[in-house]
Amino acid sequence: MTMLNFVGLSLVVLSAIEAAAVERVEYDYYKYHPMPEISKWMSQMQTDYPDLVHIVDYGKTYEKRTISLLKIGQNTGAKKKAIWMDCGIHAREWIAPAFCQYFVREILKAYKTDPKMQDMMKNMDFYVTPVLNMDGYIYSWSTNRLWRKNRSPGPASCNCSGTDLNRNFDANWGTIGVSDNCCSNIYCGTGPVSEPEAQAVTYFVGSRKEDFLCFLTIHSYGQLLLVPYGHPNYTASNYQELMDVGLAAADAIKKVHGKDYTVGASPDVLYPNSGSSRDWARMSGIPLAYTFELRDNGTFGFKLPEDQIQPTCEEAYSGALHIITYAHDKTFNGAVATAVATLWTILLAVGVTGSSLM
Ligand SMILES: [Zn+2]
Repeated sequence: MTMLNFVGLSLVVLSAIEAAAVERVEYDYYKYHPMPEISKWMSQMQTDYPDLVHIVDYGKTYEKRTISLLKIGQNTGAKKKAIWMDCGIHAREWIAPAFCQYFVREILKAYKTDPKMQDMMKNMDFYVTPVLNMDGYIYSWSTNRLWRKNRSPGPASCNCSGTDLNRNFDANWGTIGVSDNCCSNIYCGTGPVSEPEAQAVTYFVGSRKEDFLCFLTIHSYGQLLLVPYGHPNYTASNYQELMDVGLAAADAIKKVHGKDYTVGASPDVLYPNSGSSRDWARMSGIPLAYTFELRDNGTFGFKLPEDQIQPTCEEAYSGALHIITYAHDKTFNGAVATAVATLWTILLAVGVTGSSLM
């Protein structure tokens, strides 16, 4: 091989490497993405983290799209506890899917260096659905930016389409804060869990509900953390715990960018409603069920500008992580803490001091 050929070959190889590098553009987490880009991003996450991230298909939308989530955690071979997070059950709340993607990136980033996140991913799997109401989300991009519901047709007697999926779950269904007019934005459907998207969540979570420590469903807007129940006649058995943990999460949120989030049951701080996925999750026995209503307070509403995606996600991550860490520690570190305390009691009883242990 002559020197010239060698240089020529090297240049070809170099430009091929460069082309590959250019092709792999960094995903922009601070922009809103249409559905095909989010689906592609999910596949990329699985490719980039083959040991930690797996796509799980768990249902079909009315328009026959496959509903998928990312299952994130160490494959320990043991039966694990779990955290649920869904975004985009309401189509127009674009900040929600943006948050789910940010959340996934952050926990994977933390996993690389943070022993606490490593511990949590050893003990628990995170099930994250970036866009639950895919049909509606696509419709909000293509046709009607403020579309909220899914895209199933109304009953024969009605010309409107779409059911409010967050009124369709089997939790005091159809009793309060809903409409039976299919043209309404809060139309609750023809019966509890009549909609395929609500069926998918109900079946997937319901079939392993004892594994889930935590159920977080992400919405906008209003800067609220809502606890069960939406019906004013019912109070969760662990209401005080839900409030204490929620208030501490709101504190964590405020520390990031100074935003106030209000914590409470829906009838107390927003409006009464029935058939929400949060209420269904709590009624199914999942102890820590919350609705996040992200920014803002109505200035931009559902059309939150892209320059607020980053601060909104940063503060919400802090709040979500507080709840998730509490759920984890209550289940796992409690036993360790007790064991350590017992050991100390024994050591102190026999007169061994801390310094002599080293
Ligand atoms: Zn919503």
